[in-house]
Amino acid sequence: MKRVYTSANLAEATLLRHALEQAGIPTHVLNTHAAGALGEIPMADAGPQLWIAQLHQETQARALIAEFLRKKPDAAERVCTACGETNPGEFDSCWNCRAWLPQV
Ligand SMILES: [Zn+2]
Repeated sequence: MKRVYTSANLAEATLLRHALEQAGIPTHVLNTHAAGALGEIPMADAGPQLWIAQLHQETQARALIAEFLRKKPDAAERVCTACGETNPGEFDSCWNCRAWLPQV
């Protein structure tokens, strides 16, 4: 087991885990329960952690994570189906009308 990334939130960690597993890299998300402790623990230690099972896949895993993070701003934007406003991808509901946003 090798830690390859610490995320700021569980949603991102889960997306990354799916991306890695689609590439054939078995991945675990650890520390998922620490989110409630933010404010007590330094951010870098508190976020969900991505761990890969196979050490020889570390380079590939890190490349995929870098690619994911680089593409994130574009992929993330979503248009509210209720009011037509554009929302950043990390939003679960529309900033304007609070409608639930469709998951891409
Ligand atoms: Zn809306």
